[in-house]
Amino acid sequence: MTKDDYTPSQYPELALNIITRQEHNISRKQISDNALKVLYRLHGAGFDAYLVGGGVRDLLLEQSPKDFDIATNATPEQIKHLFRNCRLIGRRFRLAHIMFGRDIIEVATFRGHHQEPSKNVSAQSKEGMLLRDNVYGTIDEDAERRDFSINAMYYSIGDYSIHDYAGGIEDLEDKLIRLIGDPETRYREDPVRMLRAIRFAAKLDFDIEEDTADPIEHLAPLLQDIPAARLYEESLKLLQSGCGLETYHLMREYNLFQQLFPVIAEHFTEDYSSPTEQMLDLVLDSTDIRIEEGKRINPAFMFAAMLWYPLQEKAKQLMETRKLSYYDAIMEASNYVLDDQVRTIAIPRRHTATIREIWQLQLRLPRRNGKRAFRLMELNKFRAGFDFLEMRGEVEGEETAQLAKWWATFQNAGRNMRQAMVADLDGGASKPTHRRRKTYRNKKSKAE
Ligand code: ATP
Ligand code: MG
Repeated sequence: MTKDDYTPSQYPELALNIITRQEHNISRKQISDNALKVLYRLHGAGFDAYLVGGGVRDLLLEQSPKDFDIATNATPEQIKHLFRNCRLIGRRFRLAHIMFGRDIIEVATFRGHHQEPSKNVSAQSKEGMLLRDNVYGTIDEDAERRDFSINAMYYSIGDYSIHDYAGGIEDLEDKLIRLIGDPETRYREDPVRMLRAIRFAAKLDFDIEEDTADPIEHLAPLLQDIPAARLYEESLKLLQSGCGLETYHLMREYNLFQQLFPVIAEHFTEDYSSPTEQMLDLVLDSTDIRIEEGKRINPAFMFAAMLWYPLQEKAKQLMETRKLSYYDAIMEASNYVLDDQVRTIAIPRRHTATIREIWQLQLRLPRRNGKRAFRLMELNKFRAGFDFLEMRGEVEGEETAQLAKWWATFQNAGRNMRQAMVADLDGGASKPTHRRRKTYRNKKSKAE
C-alpha cells in the first residue's frame, strides 16, 4: 500500500457478548481497593464505569494484573470534579490520573471515531498514523478503538458482568492475539501495536493469529516514525517484564528488534553466534531470572551489556583508522554508539551516564595492583561492573573469566587475604603504599 491509496480505517461492527456474574470467575476481591473506590464513585455519580484492558484480561487468566485501568462515559473534567486527588494528563490521549499515594488509577473517557476533521480534535498523518485523538464516544466505539480482542473486555461495576466486544473470551480460550479490525490499517494507525502483539504473545504464551501476524515483518520499519521517548518506555516493557529473552527472539523473528536497535542488529548472524548475540541471550536471561526472584533490575546494566560488543567493534575501527589507543577509542566509540542508540530509543541521561561508568569499569577492573583494587571496590557502580565482567567471561573465555574469578574471590576475602592477593599480582615485591602518587598518576591517568 502506498501513502496515496491509504483510506482511513473502516471500523468493524463488533458483536457484544455479555457474560453475567454467574458465568465468570472475576470477583471484586481481586480488584484493588483504590480501583474499586474509583469505580464506585463514578457509578454513584450516575456515570458508567468499567474495569477494562489488561486488568480484565489478566483476572480472567487468573494472573495478577499490573495495573487497573478504568473506562467511563464521564469526561475528564467531570472526573476531575469528582476526585480531589485527580490530575489530567496526556496530549495524545487526555486521561485522568487518580492518585492514591504511589498508586495511580488511570481513568479514560470512552473514545470515539476520528473521522470528523471539522472538529479539529483528531488528526492523522499521511501514513495513516493517529496523531491526536481526543474524540469522546460510546463504549461500543471505545471497544473498536482498542488493539486486541483480549484487551477489549469491560467489567461493569453496575452489575458485575463482562462486556466482550470482539470475541475476547474465545481468543483467551484459544490463546490467540488477534487485532480488532483490519490489521494493516490498525498497524499504520499506531505501529507500536506491532510491538504490543509480540509483548502479549510472549508474556501470555499465546500465538499471534495469522492475519494479525502476517503484515508485521513488512510494516516493521514504520516504527522509525515513533518518537524515541515512547519507544524507550515500550522497550522496557518488552525486555524488562519477566520474559525479555523470549520477547527479543520473537521481535527479531518479526524484524522488530532490528528497528529499535539498529546498532545491535548490525552484528546479527544467521546462526545467532556473534558475541553480541551471545551477550543478548545472557543478559536477557539473567534479567528474567532477577525479576522472577524479585530482585531489582537496572535498565542501564541491560543496555550496557547489549551494546558492549558493538562498542568494541566501533573502538577497533577507530584504533585502525585514527590510530587511537584502546582507552581513547573506547571513550570515543561510547559517544558514537550511545548517540546512535538514543536516536531510536531515548535512554535517559542518568542511564547513559551509568552505561558509560559500567563500560569504563571494564577498562579498570584488570588493573588491580597497589591500592587500586581496594579503591575500585568503593565505587558506586562496582557491583554492576563486576557482574558484567562475569557475563563477559562467559562470552570471551579464559582470560576474562579468570579475572572475574579473581574479583569474586577478592570480594569474599578478609583483609589479609586481600592484601596477599594484591601482593601476588605485584609478584610479591612491591609496596604499594610507598608508590610516588604523582609520577604514577601522571603516567597512567589516562588509563584510569
Ligand atoms: P499491561 O498493563 O499488562 O501491559 P494492558 O493491556 O493493560 O497490559 P496498557 O498499555 O495498560 O496495556 O493499556 C490498557 C488498554 O488500553 C489495553 O488493554 C488496550 O485496550 C488499550 N490500548 C493500549 N495501547 C493501545 C494502542 N496502542 N492501541 C489501541 N489500544 C490500546
Ligand atoms: Mg494496563
